[in-house]
Amino acid sequence: MAEEKSKNFIEEIVEEDLRTGRVKEIQTRFPPEPNGYLHIGHTKAMCIDFGIAEKYGGKCNLRFDDTNPEKEDVKYVNAIIKDIKWMGFDFGDRVYYGSDYFDKLYDYAVELIKKGLAYVDDLDADQIREYRGTLTEPGKESPWRNRSIEENLDLFERMKNGEFESGEKVLRAKIDMASPNINFRDPVIYRIKKEPHHRTGDKWCIYPMYDFAHPLQDAIEGITHSLCSIEFANNRPLYEWFLEKLEIPNPPRQYEFARLNITHTVLSKRKLRELVEGGYVSGWNDPRMPTLSGLRRRGFTPESIRNFIDLIGISRTNSVVDWGLLEHCVRDHLNKVADRRMAVLRPVKVVIENYPEDLVEEFDVENNPEDPSKGTRKVPFSRDIYIEEDDFMIDPPRKYFRLKPGGEVRLKNAYFIKCTGYETDENGKVTLIRATYDPASRGGESPDGRKVRGTIHWVSAKHAIDAEVRLYDMLFNVENPDDVPEGGDFKDNLNPESLIVLKNCKLEPSLKEAQPEEKFQFLRLGYFCVDNVDSRPDALVFNRTVGLKDTWAKIASK
Ligand code: ATP
Ligand code: MG
Repeated sequence: MAEEKSKNFIEEIVEEDLRTGRVKEIQTRFPPEPNGYLHIGHTKAMCIDFGIAEKYGGKCNLRFDDTNPEKEDVKYVNAIIKDIKWMGFDFGDRVYYGSDYFDKLYDYAVELIKKGLAYVDDLDADQIREYRGTLTEPGKESPWRNRSIEENLDLFERMKNGEFESGEKVLRAKIDMASPNINFRDPVIYRIKKEPHHRTGDKWCIYPMYDFAHPLQDAIEGITHSLCSIEFANNRPLYEWFLEKLEIPNPPRQYEFARLNITHTVLSKRKLRELVEGGYVSGWNDPRMPTLSGLRRRGFTPESIRNFIDLIGISRTNSVVDWGLLEHCVRDHLNKVADRRMAVLRPVKVVIENYPEDLVEEFDVENNPEDPSKGTRKVPFSRDIYIEEDDFMIDPPRKYFRLKPGGEVRLKNAYFIKCTGYETDENGKVTLIRATYDPASRGGESPDGRKVRGTIHWVSAKHAIDAEVRLYDMLFNVENPDDVPEGGDFKDNLNPESLIVLKNCKLEPSLKEAQPEEKFQFLRLGYFCVDNVDSRPDALVFNRTVGLKDTWAKIASK
């Protein structure tokens, strides 16, 4: 039975607003900037923005916050749309762009000038910074602050018409150079950028600043609750100032929640872009990346990501979540939905010398013990099989229950075999194992009550299909990659062993038809997913999503 969960603080606010009639219908938005791919931090914002709308019968828009033409690109727009759909969030046909509102924003800026609340400033960026003052000292007014409304209107129009160069002039709100909130010290609201925009082309050479654009874009779309991460809390008074001065009816209200941080990774598009552009990973969708496209390629499911966000909850205090919890969530989900298969990643051949050379038997094997409706499949067995290299030891320690000279082991669902000999190469590496089987142990059952402690997986050699398997580990060696000595860089903490490629793996034949992104549990090894980029029907590539051992459970009990 589902437990009744207590409401988070945003749900409390929304319910109160509906109860008092401040709003009739909930309208939220998810506003990514198309300057990179979405990462798992964004899914927290999505779960809140789309989740709140869904829960209260409202709507959530997708709005690209595209006011910064140099860094933005349509390839990011497309990737973001794909990732949101994959997560299963519904924005219907409501895909909007901040740039769609450039005309309206321009009019709002003109209105501010007419009210004497904005002016064109000739100070350059360094001077503006210098005049701004500090947390302990008030700022200084610009000598251009008291231009007449007419002059401001004229200059602003000429800025728009391209008569000035980038950086030559800006439009600033006229608020208070002595305000204790530095955001109020005459913030810049428009700047000149002679850069084409991926949607508006050359139409504009002035672009609005985020703090000005965001509340007005929200207002234009009728957003009731503008939900964002906590770093925008200081911008809220300014957000409200614009709405108030422009006399926006039923203005949206902004509420902030804590940002998601996860150990052993970085959640910042700027840093992720650095990893991509520097070739430290194979791309935004490298399975080690915390991006949604990376996680998808690695084998994560939308359900497991949503469950993760649900488990960590929503608060206003930033914290760092252990990567192990995310792994725990995907393991939990895949345990229920992934079919079991046998695969040998580091194969060594076993010849079962008393097994008839041409005989092939087929065993019916359960696909998923967690879900009997998944039925069974046939797994062929023959004289030559592969087992994992480390399931055999020549000289094992006392409690080694796998195969050893003279020892007996159960082949999962097949027979007991006993090791009768082995061959090695000049380096002492085992190249072949000889064994005999007990025909009376068919199905892996003990014929006479004798105990065989070890059970290992196997693949019939003549039926095996070859595959490449990529094993992933944490992208960074340390919990907090930004933790570096002075002069260091987060990239110094990259884990050099985060990817191990195994080329010579042997899979049971039923995996032949495996499709990109299809997920399996390889018995005893972990969860694996067919790579959605490099895998081919005749050259399968699998990614390890996660191993079977749950380190989270251990961490949580500490
Ligand atoms: P980054 O620093 O990675 O570039 P951003 O905040 O600039 O992140 P945007 O594309 O502007 O990225 O973000 C869209 C929305 O996602 C914003 O509302 C932002 O608050 C939210 N968001 C981004 N990162 C996180 C995070 N780690 N946790 C929660 N919400 C986030
Ligand atoms: Mg941003």
